[in-house]
Parts: sequence; C-alpha cells; structure tokens
Amino acid sequence: MSSSALPLPISARAVPGGAALRCFLLVAAMVAGGALIGLLTRHAFSVAFWPANAILVGLMLRVPRLFRPSGWAGAFVGFVATDLLFDRNMGLSAFFALANTAGTFAATVALRRLDPADLRLERIHSVLRILAGLIPACFVAALIGAVLVVVEFGGSASQTLMTWPASELVNYLVVLPVLLTLRHPDAQPPRIAEPPIWPAAALIVSCVAAVQFDGPGSIMFPMPALLLCALTYPVAITAVLTMLLGTGCLITIGLGLVAIGQDMAIPRLVLSVRIAVAFLVLVPLTISSAMAVQDALLRQLRHAADHDGLTGLLNRRAFEQQLQRRLTLNPLPGDGLALLWLDLDHFKAINDQYGHPAGDAVLCAAAATLRDACGGNDLCGRLGGEEFAVLLSAPDRAAAQDAAERLRCAIVAQRVDWHGTAIHATASIGACYLTRTPTDAAPLLRCLDEAMYRAKRSGRNRIEWLDAPELAHAA
Ligand code: GH3
Ligand code: MG
Ligand code: MG
Repeated sequence: MSSSALPLPISARAVPGGAALRCFLLVAAMVAGGALIGLLTRHAFSVAFWPANAILVGLMLRVPRLFRPSGWAGAFVGFVATDLLFDRNMGLSAFFALANTAGTFAATVALRRLDPADLRLERIHSVLRILAGLIPACFVAALIGAVLVVVEFGGSASQTLMTWPASELVNYLVVLPVLLTLRHPDAQPPRIAEPPIWPAAALIVSCVAAVQFDGPGSIMFPMPALLLCALTYPVAITAVLTMLLGTGCLITIGLGLVAIGQDMAIPRLVLSVRIAVAFLVLVPLTISSAMAVQDALLRQLRHAADHDGLTGLLNRRAFEQQLQRRLTLNPLPGDGLALLWLDLDHFKAINDQYGHPAGDAVLCAAAATLRDACGGNDLCGRLGGEEFAVLLSAPDRAAAQDAAERLRCAIVAQRVDWHGTAIHATASIGACYLTRTPTDAAPLLRCLDEAMYRAKRSGRNRIEWLDAPELAHAA
C-alpha cells in the first residue's frame, strides 16, 4: 500500500522524526498487546477472541494524529512481531499482518467519514452506521486472508470468506464501542446521576442461568437484562457490559462451558455463533444510543423551557423557582444574599429612536453585563421585557451595597455600537439584603418591584433598598 494513497492532512505529512517514532512505537505496542491476547486465546478456544483489530481502529479514531504512515507501519510491525512469537515463519506472519492491516485501514477510513456524534454512539443509527462501515472492511481482510489460506494451506476460499468476516465483525462489535465511548470529553452527561446496580445484577444472574441451562437458545438468555441495562446506563457502561458479555459468550462456548449442542469444529456453525454474538451486542448498543438521543432532546427542551430565547438568561418561571429553592436552603452563618430587581430606564425611547433590533442588542448587552457580575452560585434572570433580576451572595450589607452599585455603574458604562452610534442605558434598581430566609419568594419580589418604582420616581438610574419593616412584611 503506497503512502501516497493515504488521505492525510497536511500536518500529518510533515511529522517531525521524534513524533513519527513515538507514533510508530505506540501503535506497535497497542497492536502487539491486542494480538497477544488474540493468539493466546486462539490456542485455547476454537471461537477466538481477537481484539487487536478493534484496538487499532479505536486508537486511530480516538487519536487521529496516529493516522499517518508511521502509525500504520507500527501496526504492521506489531502484528508481525507478535505472530513470530508463536512460531510462524516470516512470510506467513507478514501475510496475516497484511490482511489485518488492510482490513483495519479500510475500517478506519470508512468510520472516519462518520459524524463524531456517531462515533460516540450518540445518534439513533450510530451503531448501524458503524456496522455498515465495518462490513466491507471485514471482507477486505478476508479476501487477502483467503489468498493465503488457499495458496499456503490449500484451504477453501469460500469457507474463509464466510468465517473470517464473521470473526472480524464480532470482534469489532464487541470491543470497538468500549474504545469509542470510553471517557469521551464531549460525551453527554449521564441520564441518571447514580444509576442502580440491579440491572447489572440481573445480567449476571441471567448469564449464570445461560451457563446452567445451556443449549442453542442460551446465547439469548441475557437479552432482557441487557435491554434493561441499555435503558438504565449510559452508552459507555452499556458498551462495557456488551463487551464482557460478548467475550464471555465467545470464550465459554469455545471452552465448551456452555454447550450449545453444536459441533464447534464445523466452520458453518462457528460462523453462526459469531453472527449470533455480534447481533446480540448490536441491539442493546442501539437502544442505549437511542436513549442518549432522547436524553439530549430532553436536555434541550428543558433548557428551552427555562431560558429566555433572546438573552439566554433564566426566564421568569425558572428564576422564581430557583430563587425559591435558594431561599428555602438554610444559609450558612454570616452568609447573606442580595436580591436586585432591575428595569432599564426609558427603554421604549431606545426602540422608538433606533428600532426594535437595536433595543434587542441593548437587552443582550445588559444581560451580558449581569451575567459577568454573577458567580457560580448566583442567579440571573430576565423577568420579561426590559426587566431583570439578580441574586448575589454577599457576606454583609456593605458588600451587597457595593455589588449593587458596581452593577448599576457597569450598566451605565455599557455601550452598544449601533451602526456607528453608541447607545447607552441606565437601570433603576429595587434591592434588598437578606440574612434570614423568607418562606415565600413571591411577596419579596412584589416589594422589590415597588422599590424599583420608587427608584424611577426618584429620578431613575439609582438603587432603592427595602428598609427593615418592608423586609419584615415581605418575609
Ligand atoms: P421606564 O423608564 O419607566 O421603565 O420606561 P420604559 O420605556 O423603559 O418602560 P415601558 O414599560 O414604557 O417600555 C418598555 C418597552 O420595552 C416597551 C416594549 O416594546 C419594549 N420591549 C419589551 N420586550 C422587548 C424586547 O424583547 N425587545 C425590544 N426591543 N423591546 C422590548
Ligand atoms: Mg418595565
Ligand atoms: Mg423600563
């Protein structure tokens, strides 16, 4: 395979020598590790577990900078070196390595074309798209393997073209999803913060039952528990469970621990078992991906329901809900809260003079100013129109007054450049400082609204604080 055939990015072609060597060694070591597991199990079981190809494809997809000639050379050498440990001659080892390298290269090229969300198994058709990319690659490896089997061992080409792709496919489907979903930085947060353990326990029980009862149907015994796991756990955990189950099936059937009533020396039946295991893992993975899609949609809907479309701040309902939650929490001793209700002054005049889009830009700028003033535990919302509210942590009244004053000045200092004209705004603010928690946020907000109107009547661009009797009344 010539390096000019590789669709490499420019940066990949100009690799410094040290980086190319590191890339070569890393890929060679990973492939050799996977091949060693495969060759050890191949000597022990007839239904082999061969994770090397999936490890290589997973590595190339997760670390794209390894997809360069030195990486593929490392892969080839890793395959050959491990094979030589098991008394093969150089020519045979090189031919097997060629089949594996060509198959994994074809698989990597096919899967690199998929959307990154597909490679994280976060779309409904992700698993099927990955399957569609893998099938031709399995036949690429099998075609080269068939030449070797016919020429070197006098075996049957048609038989090799059946069993080799099935073996490749089951190993990819069992191992690759774990590598693709493992601690992905862009992965969606889990749907349940602390998922229950009992679906995994049910899976173990059904596996024990499969070993006890055996027979041809035993491969499907774990399916209900597996579906339950897929509906409960994130894709990454489901992928680990399917890998354990898939490898468990291949190994226990290979060792005869689960007697499925078939002669595992007959290639057609080995093929059948491999396909059954491959499709066994396909279903829960697809369900888990579909659940991830549903979770992402729910998160989007929840975000849209809680946030204002123009400014991105919390909307009134969400702000009041979160405020109520904060107020009902017992504050720590000495930990106070400043609650501010802000209304932009003469905002209608901005709309009238510059147009509605200019007014929108001023609202967005005010929202950004408020957001900048808020820390991680503070709340910031748009109550409607040109009215906003902010809840800030403040250790004492003086700190609360300083924070409110800084906010008022920040809005005064804000300039919105509208086609060369600087639009500025001011805000009238109703404020209160809370050291003990009122039971209900609604009367408090009503009092703040009144304080804000007092600020309007007193000349605007100022802060009116609720006095102690008002606060006692609101609380
Ligand atoms: P005051 O100083 O007394 O608060 O006067 P004001 O003009 O700010 O208050 P008023 O209630 O008279 O006008 C508020 C205006 O805000 C009227 C409304 O058209 C405008 N408005 C409400 N929502 C939006 C919005 O999303 N975008 C824009 N551009 N304008 C909005
Ligand atoms: Mg208003
Ligand atoms: Mg106003």
